[in-house]
Amino acid sequence: MMAALAPPIESHDDDLRILAQEGCIQCNKCTMSCPVHRADVTFSPRKVILQAYLGDADRLSERDLWACLTCGECQAVCATQVPFPAFIRARREALRPVMERTAPCKHGSYKDILAKIMAKPNLNQDRRAWIGDGLKVADTGDVIYFTGCMPYLDGVFTYCDSARIGKAAIKIMNAAGIVPVVSNLERCCGHDALWNGDRATFETLARRNAEWIRASGAKRLVTTCAECYSMLKYEYPKVVGEWPVEVLHMTELIEELVAAGRLSFTKPVDLTVTYQDPCRLGRHSKEYDAPRAVLKAIPGLKFVEMDRIRENSMCCGVGAYSNCDAQTKFLQQERLEEAASKAENLVTACPHCRIHFSCYLDGRPVDPLPDLKIVDVTDLAARALG
Ligand code: SF4
Ligand code: SF4
Ligand code: SF4
Repeated sequence: MMAALAPPIESHDDDLRILAQEGCIQCNKCTMSCPVHRADVTFSPRKVILQAYLGDADRLSERDLWACLTCGECQAVCATQVPFPAFIRARREALRPVMERTAPCKHGSYKDILAKIMAKPNLNQDRRAWIGDGLKVADTGDVIYFTGCMPYLDGVFTYCDSARIGKAAIKIMNAAGIVPVVSNLERCCGHDALWNGDRATFETLARRNAEWIRASGAKRLVTTCAECYSMLKYEYPKVVGEWPVEVLHMTELIEELVAAGRLSFTKPVDLTVTYQDPCRLGRHSKEYDAPRAVLKAIPGLKFVEMDRIRENSMCCGVGAYSNCDAQTKFLQQERLEEAASKAENLVTACPHCRIHFSCYLDGRPVDPLPDLKIVDVTDLAARALG
């Protein structure tokens, strides 16, 4: 077997140390599994790693830096588990001060500005305006519903009605006797800032969120967003230290409530669905089972798996709003064709996957697609409540 390459031994760069944790044997499996490579053959994680090992990491092209979806498919197939997404994240962080272009996507710029506003002190927000009558939320309690940027998404992504996911989550929690805290003090989770190399903004957001979460006295925090989940569960403790709340994705809470007999789905939902593993919930957080358990608990629902699932699942085409171009559309067409060959509804567990796929369908697909709806798993579960 070919010996593993190692980065220059004198290197003190954090990102090269990330690559050095495991040696790359230049087998090219990562490139062959990479969705971006399928859309643009000049993009190759193996090539980028070789360039870094040869001491040329600073000359990484902007194209390579931003084209990566940080989806983790390459790492999942790599024999030595080279953490390429972590390397890209560290490179974005290192090169941010000298780069003219940051997140090359118009919606990335919007999210960038939103995160910076959210990082300001003394914000005066009304984060509950979308909730509407009949749903119960509280100022204090044991369970926080962390909404993420969902209340702000509908102003831009008008074709999505993302607020329905939040309403569904509260409806389900109320049905199980939980009145969740929805706080006006909440800030953006910082996911896009972190993955686009803006660590300062991410850490400010993490600290501001930690302050009110700690003061709330809550024991659990539930989110319907795969990105918030990966931040709050895995990244926040690295920044804010001891973390007093157990972080759950909404599907984990639903699975638990159903198993405990506190929630039952009695209304049939007569749909055929397939499921998209969001990268941040699946490969990044290893939560593959809870969303599937929820789908299987819904009466009347016919659940058909796609061919590429779990750790082999394919990204929705956009990672952290850092890339959206012709390659994105190529990938979305590919994945949606796969979904449409299985079902009329593609279910996700992340509002951002839903936005990106819905955006593609709302525009003009490259090739005609059969009728396909993009649905959130929490929304679907709420429809099954009696
Ligand atoms: S799959 Fe892993 S070992 Fe093979 S080239 Fe890619 S990073 Fe290197
Ligand atoms: S993280 Fe995803 S997009 Fe980036 S190199 Fe790996 S497989 Fe390709
Ligand atoms: S797929 Fe649509 S919603 Fe997503 S980043 Fe691109 S343009 Fe924006």
